[in-house]
Amino acid sequence: MYDDKRIAIVGGGPVGLTTALTLSRRGVPCIVYEAAEEIAKEQRGAAFHPPTLEIFRQLGIESSLMKMGLRVPVWQMRDRTDGVYAEFDLGTLAEITDFPFRYHLPQHYLSSLLLDTLKDDPNVELCFSSNVSSVNNEDTSAVLTIAMDGGERFVRSPWVVGSDGAHSNVRKSAGFDFEGFTWREKFLVTNIEYPLQELGYTGTAYVSDPEDWAAVLKLYDDTREHLWRIAMPAKLDVSDDSLLEAESVQARLRKTLGVDMEYPVAYSGTYRVHQRVADTFFKGRIMLAGDAAHINNPIGGFGLNGGIHDAFNLANKLADVWLGISGEEALELYSRQRRTVAVEVVQKNSIRNKQAMEERDPDVRRRNKDAMRALSRDPVKVREFLLDSSMISSVRRAAEIS
Ligand SMILES: Cc1cc2nc3c(=O)[nH]c(=O)nc-3n(C[C@H](O)[C@H](O)[C@H](O)COP(=O)(O)OP(=O)(O)OC[C@H]3O[C@@H](n4cnc5c(N)ncnc54)[C@H](O)[C@@H]3O)c2cc1C
Repeated sequence: MYDDKRIAIVGGGPVGLTTALTLSRRGVPCIVYEAAEEIAKEQRGAAFHPPTLEIFRQLGIESSLMKMGLRVPVWQMRDRTDGVYAEFDLGTLAEITDFPFRYHLPQHYLSSLLLDTLKDDPNVELCFSSNVSSVNNEDTSAVLTIAMDGGERFVRSPWVVGSDGAHSNVRKSAGFDFEGFTWREKFLVTNIEYPLQELGYTGTAYVSDPEDWAAVLKLYDDTREHLWRIAMPAKLDVSDDSLLEAESVQARLRKTLGVDMEYPVAYSGTYRVHQRVADTFFKGRIMLAGDAAHINNPIGGFGLNGGIHDAFNLANKLADVWLGISGEEALELYSRQRRTVAVEVVQKNSIRNKQAMEERDPDVRRRNKDAMRALSRDPVKVREFLLDSSMISSVRRAAEIS
């Protein structure tokens, strides 16, 4: 057993690395255990909301981040057959935030930047190819079991952050519940190289339809100018092989986008979507953050952003505890603040967004559309709506909890 005095972070995804950077900025030493050999490059979260950009500014990486990416001030609600019925301009929040736009940047660019920033940081040790199989609470520490360097190691740490993603070993081994449900369909995600702005799309569009609803997102890519992601529902009982057949993907794109052409497809994949939140984010010496603590469908782009908000909130409180500024009750507060918004805001809004897009009853669909159209023309309601959808309200709500 090795006794390590540093804070252990399990998982070097965007949430774990943001936790490490925040701790380091406060002068607190930590070690990150990451199971993979290198950071993930998968197609995942790709849009940042204003409060997340404000966090990156406080961490000193905003200007590097802003050299990449796309600013998307205006987003749309569309009906697959009738087109745009509401448009929202984040520019109306310009007096509230310095970042009145969504910032589109695939999360692996953020992870690479975090990695570059951390790699020579004396406060942070990064251990790749280090798979944490379990973490168990003791009285004033927690013990990690780690497969690394060809063997099994046991490390005792004063505090452990579980930021090891949706399938978190930390969460499972330490006995946190993960309550919620799994949607009855899969998501089919495709990236196409096609200038969708020529069809009137702004950088983000939510397209409603009882069968063929979609989330459409312009992706930043440093080698391709016109790369768009289309996320669509797919039946659970159809195999991935048939869903991903080239002709089947083309047929879905034609139906969803309404243009009869051969789309240049750069990527396609499927994934299952869940709505789950851990019963607490803090137990003994172990804290959960990011996907390890909560997962939701991607409509609204809350998952990654919420995880970064967790990381910044948690790491600052953990630094206060480490530096003797606060007692452990600060970590209890972290759990209450972030779990409350995960349940009350993120789960509620992401479920509502998805259900509105896929509503089947024609009368309800018409009423929903009329309501959103009317809302988009009322400046007071637009402001409230944008504060919610850009997660500014959720960060404020968390801060009010004491
Ligand atoms: C297809 C897709 C699209 C998405 N789109 C959006 C979007 O548009 N907007 C949005 O906000 N969110 C989106 N999300 C969600 C977003 O990707 C996640 O919320 C985000 O990745 C969470 O970051 P994380 O660091 O908590 O977890 P992860 O990114 O999953 O990172 C966890 C890390 O922990 C490591 N790890 C796992 N197990 C262990 C172990 N036992 N020991 C050590 N390390 C371990 C993993 O290798 C990984 O590097 C999407 C997700 C998917 C799958």
